[in-house]
Amino acid sequence: MRFAKTATPTLVELVEIVKNFIEEEFTLLFEVPVESRSLGVWGKVDAVAITKSEAIPIEIKLTTSPEKLKRFAIHHVVQIVAYALAVEETFRLPVRRVLVVSVEGNTVFQFTVNPSFREYVYRLSRELRRVVEDEKIPSPTPSRRRCRACFYRKFCSRL
Ligand code: SF4
Repeated sequence: MRFAKTATPTLVELVEIVKNFIEEEFTLLFEVPVESRSLGVWGKVDAVAITKSEAIPIEIKLTTSPEKLKRFAIHHVVQIVAYALAVEETFRLPVRRVLVVSVEGNTVFQFTVNPSFREYVYRLSRELRRVVEDEKIPSPTPSRRRCRACFYRKFCSRL
């Protein structure tokens, strides 16, 4: 499926994309508010496909790929898994996978929400809570590569 570059897929395009991945009947919801009390996060997911047996969040990114996610974009993986957990809690349906749509790459791929990713995100959430409760600034990341994409780089004392 191809869609206009730099634009988000239209409703019709998204339905066609989702059809390629889901055999069951589904309802597609857009801009879905979700909340996870167990993680303490909330937000809006681009879209969610709901079937009788599962909920499938859909993340629309300007540009990404399975390799990019694996090698460079752990922050995107964390975001995807946190949203997946929030969708699961909001709809009380299992989330086993997330569809990631890359607009510029004209590709769609499936990301499996496996137990180790879940545990990783729960662990980060616990660490984050501890930082807030203890009011203690965490140590800088050992990997300077992560600083490149960090929102806090302008304020971080390390740089
Ligand atoms: S810029 Fe600072 S806060 Fe951001 S990843 Fe690097 S060390 Fe961490």
